[in-house]
Amino acid sequence: MRRLALPNFDFSTALAETINGIGNKIIQEKYRNQLANPATIEKYFQNNAKAATLYNLPRVDNGNDDVIIYGNLKKIELTKLYTQYFSATGKPARRLYDQIKVTSNGKCPFCGDIGHVRTLDHYAPKANFPLYSVMPGNLIPCCRDCNTEKLDAFSTTLEGQTLNPYFDDEKFFNEKWVAAKVIKNNPPVVEYYVSPPVDWPHSDKKRVDAHFTEYGLVERFSVEAAAALPEVIATRKGILRGSSPQDYAEYLYEVSNNLNLPINNWRRVMFSCLAEDLWFCSHEH
Ligand SMILES: [Zn+2]
Repeated sequence: MRRLALPNFDFSTALAETINGIGNKIIQEKYRNQLANPATIEKYFQNNAKAATLYNLPRVDNGNDDVIIYGNLKKIELTKLYTQYFSATGKPARRLYDQIKVTSNGKCPFCGDIGHVRTLDHYAPKANFPLYSVMPGNLIPCCRDCNTEKLDAFSTTLEGQTLNPYFDDEKFFNEKWVAAKVIKNNPPVVEYYVSPPVDWPHSDKKRVDAHFTEYGLVERFSVEAAAALPEVIATRKGILRGSSPQDYAEYLYEVSNNLNLPINNWRRVMFSCLAEDLWFCSHEH
């Protein structure tokens, strides 16, 4: 839910560095010969990513390590590129891994800033799409929770695909599709839901829904809001004591807009939903 710029190196560079980390010259040569046209593979991948059709690419089932994927390269040989020669500490390509990890300033693009980046996620899982195991555009910085929530599941339909921070349309990152409402409890509870603009195509509406579900964001956003709300309420009882509901609502709106956060960030949505709730603004709780 946070837009990211693509890594500033291409598949050809990633592949060359990865292969440099292989000790055996004969095996190095095998990879170089079999993957002689990285630019073609990258273009094919990126075109599909931009069109949100990665779900439609040929995939291999989990397991099946010996199945031939590309040229005479087996699945295991392609996934090994990532695990043993790209992400492994001490290998030359590790600097590229680390470079991608810092591109989002430590903030996870999938949950929109809840988690800190701990790992790289394969948008198209390497278990199913091993050819793209070290494709820069397939490697996305990710927090541990999002990585765990997602596992290796990758949708087989357009509608089921989660958002891709590198390639998806700007509107997913610039237009508001996360909403929340206040539940009149003591203390009040903020409950999140998906509410995309009505003029969006059906498949795009379904995709944000899938993203929210896949990463468990209803619950994770609510947990964050529950932890933040006491401080908001304390402000009302403190420096804003005695302010009218209208003044208080205006203050909450202002906070929401001044946070300098992506439009669908949980905190920003929380403040705007509190501002719009007359019950919340009229009581000191
Ligand atoms: Zn995350």
